[in-house]
Amino acid sequence: MSNFIPYGCQDITEEDIQTVSEILKSDFLTQGPMVPLFEKAVSDYVGINYAFAMNSATSALHVACLALGLKEGDWLWTSPNTFVASANCGRYCGAHVDFVDIDSKTYNMSVTALEEKLKQAKLNNCLPKIVVPVHFAGQSCDMKSIKALADEYNFFIIEDASHAIGGTYLNQKIGNCRFSDITIFSFHPVKIITTAEGGMALTRDAKLADKIQLFRSHGITRDANFMTHIADGDWYYQQIELGLNYRMTELQAGLGISQLKRIDKYVQRRHELANYYDQILSDLPLILPYQHHDNYSALHLYPIVLQDATKRKIVFDHLRKNNIGVNVHYIPVHTQPYYQQLGHKYGDYPQAEAYYNGAISLPLFAKLSHQQQDFIVDCIKASI
Ligand SMILES: *Cc1c(COP(=O)(O)O)cnc(C)c1O
Repeated sequence: MSNFIPYGCQDITEEDIQTVSEILKSDFLTQGPMVPLFEKAVSDYVGINYAFAMNSATSALHVACLALGLKEGDWLWTSPNTFVASANCGRYCGAHVDFVDIDSKTYNMSVTALEEKLKQAKLNNCLPKIVVPVHFAGQSCDMKSIKALADEYNFFIIEDASHAIGGTYLNQKIGNCRFSDITIFSFHPVKIITTAEGGMALTRDAKLADKIQLFRSHGITRDANFMTHIADGDWYYQQIELGLNYRMTELQAGLGISQLKRIDKYVQRRHELANYYDQILSDLPLILPYQHHDNYSALHLYPIVLQDATKRKIVFDHLRKNNIGVNVHYIPVHTQPYYQQLGHKYGDYPQAEAYYNGAISLPLFAKLSHQQQDFIVDCIKASI
């Protein structure tokens, strides 16, 4: 496996290992000082007041929906070009899930398609309660326009920024909720920085912050302001909602703090590598990732699209045969059997499907070398 090149891969340093080892020897494996320190480090980094670490981004998405009051009968809309978790969070709350087609250049949720769908939904009296734009590959959606629509049509926005920590949009850090209610990060090992498993929900809104905290941990509060009567004593707590145990461990938070110190270097390295791909792939019949000038993308992914989609499988198989762990992001969520069984079908979102048919994500991670990139591109040339 040593010469296998994955599509994404964590970078673990001696300092990371040292940090985690020390926590193992400390008094707290969970519910100690590291989680609040990690939350403070991330919230300082992006410039926001409230951040809540959880055991995954999937959990953070679920809690975000609960905090915004999503219920049975409500609608949540997201992009079909995402990981299933962006849609599943709506289903966990019993809500209906629907999709908005993507922009053919950025592969992010199309604002034109969103506006069109909102007009229809208004007529049919089924406007969404929550829209979840996904910053695909690290590039921010057109949040300014989406926020304008949210104000007009009265829906909440959860940014799924699982790919996007470390990037900026309109010169501000992604995650500061300038144009949204809640932002979600993922710290899965293939993402920009890792805590093994882990995620975070960020908000500017104090009331939402209280709710996120509550739902993350059983719906239990020790805050007298939320109790129905004066505490029986110092031991006393009350459960006031049906929450979950989505807490992050101290080990994970320590790893996150250590990783966060290198985030800007990681993103910079991803840009160097992407620029190099741009150069060495420029003569091939491919569509290369488009970067909008309002963004500095964290570049989680480098998705190429074959102009001749019928060759996608041949190229993909050839790369895999050569120990290159290419992948495809994403199989449109509405075509998954689970969502088809809920009434969605092939053909519903043609842009997402057209993109998917030709897409391959090339390896992109901090430790990748130009030499490995040359080898990857030679393999593409040999099979295209
Ligand atoms: C990775 C990912 C998630 C889920 O993240 P976990 O931390 O693995 O739960 C959600 N949405 C998107 C867009 C992702 O890429």
